[in-house]
Amino acid sequence: MQNRITELFDIQYPIIQAGMIWCSGWELASAVSNTGGLGIIGSGSMYPEVLREHIQKCKASTNKPFAVNVPLLYPDIDKHIQTIIEEKVPIVFSSAGNPAIWTQKLKDEGIKVVHVVSNIKFALKAEACGVDAIVAEGFEAGGHNGREETTTLVLIPQICEAVKIPVIAAGGIGTGKTMAAVMALGADAVQIGSRFVASEESSAHDNFKNAVVEAKYGETQLSLKQLTPVRLLKNKFWKEVVSAEMGGASVEELANILGRARAKKGMFEGDLDEGELEIGQISGYISEIKPAAEIVKEIVDEFNKTVNRMPFLNL
Ligand code: NDP
Ligand code: NDP
Repeated sequence: MQNRITELFDIQYPIIQAGMIWCSGWELASAVSNTGGLGIIGSGSMYPEVLREHIQKCKASTNKPFAVNVPLLYPDIDKHIQTIIEEKVPIVFSSAGNPAIWTQKLKDEGIKVVHVVSNIKFALKAEACGVDAIVAEGFEAGGHNGREETTTLVLIPQICEAVKIPVIAAGGIGTGKTMAAVMALGADAVQIGSRFVASEESSAHDNFKNAVVEAKYGETQLSLKQLTPVRLLKNKFWKEVVSAEMGGASVEELANILGRARAKKGMFEGDLDEGELEIGQISGYISEIKPAAEIVKEIVDEFNKTVNRMPFLNL
């Protein structure tokens, strides 16, 4: 497979594993890169020295390109950027913030920069900031998400028409069929998160991986829209949030309920009642924990089969 994205990143398949807090460390990132996709270390949950360790272990485990995801609202972002430059990370995916601040500095260091957006306004802004590509993430996605609730099916064609740079589709993708669908809509590649949470190499707690496998359709919801919108698996903590919202809780009251380190508690420490469990709608389709290489192979095989049968759809 060859296109603008495989050439930009020097990878074999246009399949990118999303940077996910507490779930995507060096082990998952290097496993995905070794199969010919692009693995991403999720730095939002890592203290600066932890990120350096993950980058070094990733470099020791793969000779292939990999990336680091930097949520731009990370508190010690200057240190993360410095580590990324010092360790010569080839690609950065930035998200949740303004790409005007760091893009040029990273590009001056020869680093390729991709920014995650959830609407056309931010896509155009990211393009104007000089990023090499964008991830356009629809409503179905897990974790942080746009407020507008635009689905991937609606978002991708509009974004592809609006920008000239390559577009990586995200949100609701975890199979070869969904990959073929978004590429038919104009995307150059896919970014996949939830499917890789339930991988052997993911750093998520086994309780969370098992909860993802057991999740059925309808068991996630875009929540906490008054704070930072985030798609969560419905659990005891989620119920507390919803009942507070229905009772007219203020932003401050919601922030108090959320408290600190809820995501770590749920996804990393495996507290399925009190923790925050960030996952996408596609979790309803995931039924087994597998090695990352097997996941990539299945997606590629199903993509090829789907594309091969597409001429027959030309009624
Ligand atoms: P603000 O809305 O106050 O934004 C702070 C600054 O960052 C503004 O200059 C804003 O641009 C800019 N900005 C925020 N997000 C983006 C982005 N994805 N791309 C480009 N510029 C961005 O505060 P917040 O930091 O709380 O951001 C909230 C917004 O970001 C919401 O719309 C939310 O849906 C979105 N968001 C998107 C995520 C994603 O990329 N998947 C993740 C988390 C949040 P401007 O001045 O043009 O408004
Ligand atoms: P909280 O403020 O609730 O807690 C911070 C968490 O991050 C703690 O668990 C802490 O670990 C850890 N952490 C790592 N580095 C630092 C640091 N330098 N300073 C303080 N804490 C640090 O935040 P969240 O858990 O909700 O989010 C953490 C980060 O991840 C944020 O930057 C957020 O923007 C980002 N994020 C990214 C998402 C993505 O999918 N890319 C989705 C959601 C959030 P400890 O408990 O060990 O102290």
